[in-house]
Amino acid sequence: MPIRALARQALHSSITFNRTQTGTVVCMIGHHIVRIPSFDGTEIVLANLRRPDRYSRLFQDISEAPRCIPRGGGLSYCAASTGQGIVSISSQCFNRILAFDKEKGSVTVECGVTVGQLFEWVVKHAWIPPVLPGHPSITVGGSIGFNVHGKSQFHSGNFGDWIEMLWVYHPDHGEQECSKQSNAELFYLTIGGFGLTGFITKVQLRLKK
Ligand SMILES: Cc1cc2nc3c(=O)[nH]c(=O)nc-3n(C[C@H](O)[C@H](O)[C@H](O)COP(=O)(O)OP(=O)(O)OC[C@H]3O[C@@H](n4cnc5c(N)ncnc54)[C@H](O)[C@@H]3O)c2cc1C
Repeated sequence: MPIRALARQALHSSITFNRTQTGTVVCMIGHHIVRIPSFDGTEIVLANLRRPDRYSRLFQDISEAPRCIPRGGGLSYCAASTGQGIVSISSQCFNRILAFDKEKGSVTVECGVTVGQLFEWVVKHAWIPPVLPGHPSITVGGSIGFNVHGKSQFHSGNFGDWIEMLWVYHPDHGEQECSKQSNAELFYLTIGGFGLTGFITKVQLRLKK
């Protein structure tokens, strides 16, 4: 539906105002349709945004959507995690640190954990995430989707170089584990895969001293 028609509909129905993850005020109708600008402001999409808060709902939202795309912090310069007629599935509520091996320097987190959150957690134990992109609200899921780099790229490579294991949900295959050793095709296609292989639920990462 064109923006003007939606705005007209909003005038005559109960609407609420809310904030997207990028902090932009948007008009929400029925709590789903939101106006999402790309970070650089060049693209504005009226998208159907879902924010599931538990795994059963996440899997249901993905399975029911005719076309969908995972969404992290929405901090890509382009409209990478949204699209006209597409259901954006937010990882915002999946933000727990699940396991941490202090001796080995290995951490398992949900995909909605931000790089800022991750840094704050591991640095207390004298470890650091080796690759940190330039905004603390970028999520781990988004860092994998774009295989991001930090200022340390010349010696630490990209985010994907530090992944030990991934868990990816796809409605046709369920939640699958993958690594360099097992299910390697899914593993390599997911790193830098723009969210097209499925929804990354969890990741195990190696850290650095
Ligand atoms: C101020 C600023 C500084 C930046 N600095 C850097 C930098 O130093 N280096 C760099 O490389 N990039 C940098 N970027 C770009 C940013 O790191 C990437 O665009 C990153 O992908 C954004 O992550 P996000 O969490 O916002 O995800 P989104 O923008 O929401 O999504 C990015 C992609 O990841 C996919 N995705 C997100 N979550 C999941 C998931 N759970 N499962 C599967 N796919 C998923 C999406 O579908 C989409 O294709 C910067 C951006 C900004 C705004």
